[in-house]
Amino acid sequence: MDNVDTATRQLMAENESLRARMAQMAAQAEYNHEIMRRHQAFDLQIVAAATFEELVGTILRTLPVISELDTVTLSLVDPDADIHTVMLKLGVQFDAFPGLLFCASADDLDFERGPSDVPRPRLGPFAPATHRAAFPHPPQGLQSVALVPLLRNKRLIGSLNLGSLDPARFTPALGTDFIEHMASIIAICLENVISNEMLKYIGLTDALTGVYNRRYIDRRLVEEIARARRQQYRVSCMYIDIDHFKQVNDTVGHQGGDDVLREVAARIKAELRMSDALARFGGEEFVVLLIDADLDSASRVANRIRASVANAPVQLASGELVSVSVSIGVATLDDFERDHAIEGVAQALVAQADSALYQAKESGRNRVVAST
Ligand code: GH3
Ligand code: MG
Ligand code: MG
Repeated sequence: MDNVDTATRQLMAENESLRARMAQMAAQAEYNHEIMRRHQAFDLQIVAAATFEELVGTILRTLPVISELDTVTLSLVDPDADIHTVMLKLGVQFDAFPGLLFCASADDLDFERGPSDVPRPRLGPFAPATHRAAFPHPPQGLQSVALVPLLRNKRLIGSLNLGSLDPARFTPALGTDFIEHMASIIAICLENVISNEMLKYIGLTDALTGVYNRRYIDRRLVEEIARARRQQYRVSCMYIDIDHFKQVNDTVGHQGGDDVLREVAARIKAELRMSDALARFGGEEFVVLLIDADLDSASRVANRIRASVANAPVQLASGELVSVSVSIGVATLDDFERDHAIEGVAQALVAQADSALYQAKESGRNRVVAST
């Protein structure tokens, strides 16, 4: 009788522990499923990201949450700072992404190379000295990290850096299939979004001077006039033309003329506010769009530009000095035009500035004429 009781009790205990293990495994499966689901949602989100800002924001903000990480940073290889420069010009607010890091060379990332020279992920305990570049501001108590190479066609384009307060989270023994897969999707998305943004930038800027091109300013003008109408502020426009530029070319050559164009663009830009827009309209002509500026203040800015060009000669790449001047026509959008179709108004505003410029040329050049 006692024997039977003991056997039954043993069976019941075993049964109990089996149930507990089953429940634990079910919970684990449920948890794994949940993680998988979150990662799939994350993949969709990064694939759908249309801009660099959106993609980087998702990687740096969403990934730590869904992967239960304490820090995520992203290092990008950017040899000539092209990515950084273009993103800045496209208005990316880098302050919002302290985890976004740039390095000048793929060698800076310091990955060990596996078979056929492929960089391998580095997993293990956090070492402040070794990992300073990947985690310049590590969270308090960071214990283990994974530095995962971002590869495109075997080319190292960056590193995805994951960190945890849990020392057991990333160990050298851990399998890396999952994080490598994630890194490969992130690398594709990054390359794609960066090349799209570069194309966008090239399509809107003038290659010689780096300021906007005509296509951009035409579009921006329409947007700004619409906004100015809604929000009741003034938009003014400047048409700038370099005086006797043909002679400049004849004297210093086309190359020298190009140097002058670059310098004049820079001097114009230096007198403008962040919200203003400068474009090379073609040849040696520039158009500036001034936001929230009436005819008086636009004319003051125009005179500053005129003086800044005329007061100091331009030094060419050859070292040669050449004096140039500009004539400027200024026009402002008046209330009457607020009732007309926007595209027509935009064209009329530029035409008005252009005819004021014509008067500036007629009356002797190196001067500003405001259209009244
Ligand atoms: P004005 O004072 O009446 O404006 O005289 P101008 O000589 O500046 O007038 P015009 O508009 O006839 O000449 C513009 C010159 O600009 C002609 C052209 O050779 C030159 N040009 C146009 N685009 C470029 C360029 O990209 N680089 C250089 N170096 N010259 C250019
Ligand atoms: Mg001209
Ligand atoms: Mg000219």
